[in-house]
Amino acid sequence: MSIPPRIGFIGLGIMGEAMALNLVKAGFQVSVYNRTRRNTIRFADLGCQVADTPRALAKLADTVITMVSDPAAMDAVLEGPEGVLSAFSGGNTLLNMSTLSPEYTAALAKKCFIAGVSFLDCPVSGSKPLAEKAQLVILAGGNKEIVERFGPVLNTLGRSVIYAGPAPAGTALKLCVNLVVAQMTTALAEATALAAAQEIDPELVFTTLAGNPALDCAYFRMKKDNMLEKNFPPAFPLRHMLKDTKFMLAVAAKSGLELPVTAAVEKLLEKSYNSGYGSQDLSVVLRSLTE
Ligand code: NAP
Repeated sequence: MSIPPRIGFIGLGIMGEAMALNLVKAGFQVSVYNRTRRNTIRFADLGCQVADTPRALAKLADTVITMVSDPAAMDAVLEGPEGVLSAFSGGNTLLNMSTLSPEYTAALAKKCFIAGVSFLDCPVSGSKPLAEKAQLVILAGGNKEIVERFGPVLNTLGRSVIYAGPAPAGTALKLCVNLVVAQMTTALAEATALAAAQEIDPELVFTTLAGNPALDCAYFRMKKDNMLEKNFPPAFPLRHMLKDTKFMLAVAAKSGLELPVTAAVEKLLEKSYNSGYGSQDLSVVLRSLTE
């Protein structure tokens, strides 16, 4: 990338704030937009331009990065007279890093292609602590040459970029990876609940896992305090994993594939969500098992 892109960053939530800060720290020219204005204050203090609308942001940038909740949030920032696409044309790039459905991503890729806008489908693996340390794994879909051209941006956000194929391959791969995360988290919650039900100290479950080289997993260690202290500050909000399991099940159903364990996990996530735990960390499923 000979001329660095002028980046417009949309979505300064748990992940987006940390990612946009890493781009600023690396010296990229970054302007920002966030639906809730107060999340932009830190960026204004760092000298970034803050746009009032996604369209105004797109006018300040040649590349827009989106890190928002879901397809509805993408529509809200891309479409309509104040949306990014109203100001974007040939030569611009839309780089989505939110987790969306493959179906939505494929339609967006097509829309961008027709408008002459380059589209990169780059969701990420890793949550808040890895975003802060720029250690995300980026699952890249899209034209390979364009993915490579954006290497300096992607490598500022993550430790590695895995090229999956044309869009929506990045999103398709992301759902496979999140399937494992969803099941690992609920497995850990069930093991913690089962230990307590047998009057065994749940900490011994974590000690045993950590002591077995085949089962010692950084993710288990990351979730240990949440499970033992029954405190679930959001690193990966439960509502986002519920969205992702719905995407997994929809894609599988279309292919005639059954995912019985994921279907059970989705029910547990739904129960937690309906109990009002959607904004807490995914590990809060423990609460739904024990209440
Ligand atoms: P988050 O903290 O909930 O932030 C969501 C962002 O989307 C906020 O900036 C929010 O704006 C914006 N947004 C939501 N609805 C909107 C709408 N209708 N119009 C405009 N903006 C809207 O989420 P996050 O944890 O950063 O996750 C962002 C994406 O990354 C999700 O797709 C998630 O699945 C994925 N992801 C998350 C993690 C993780 O560990 N957290 C890891 C990998 C991937 P406001 O501030 O105004 O609400």
